[in-house]
Amino acid sequence: MALLNIIKEDKDVLNALRKKSRTVEEITPRINTLIDDMKETLKVSGGIGLAAPQVGILRRVVIVDDGEEILELINPEIISAEGEQDGIEACLSLPGKWGMVKRPLNVTVKALDRTGEVRTYTGTGLVGRCFCHEIDHLNGILYTDLASRMLDPDELE
Ligand code: ZN
Repeated sequence: MALLNIIKEDKDVLNALRKKSRTVEEITPRINTLIDDMKETLKVSGGIGLAAPQVGILRRVVIVDDGEEILELINPEIISAEGEQDGIEACLSLPGKWGMVKRPLNVTVKALDRTGEVRTYTGTGLVGRCFCHEIDHLNGILYTDLASRMLDPDELE
């Protein structure tokens, strides 16, 4: 496993985060190595989710820490979303920023796991928020596009 570099705010590299990621057509050992490296990277970053484009790989792969395990989602799609929550969101690629973002409360995602099996996961609250945030990354969307307002650091206390 290897630690990967998370793309952070910088004009040129942020352009990469505006691109649409490509569908994974075949789950190769390379994709699984990417997932392993992303997991290791997430663990040291202090975040709860990471999308492949954040480490410079434009493939539809995200990982989400649901509090018990790190879910591995290949070609994830939101198949249902209900309710609403308004809360603080941040991104490993935009350090030092926080914003208020409305998201659905309960989010169900369908994705392939690393063996190619179709799995569904339902996330509530923070996990549901994270599913939305990470899948947005695959479409070049950043939470700052959706924030009703950005917060000052002193508002976080
Ligand atoms: Zn992010």
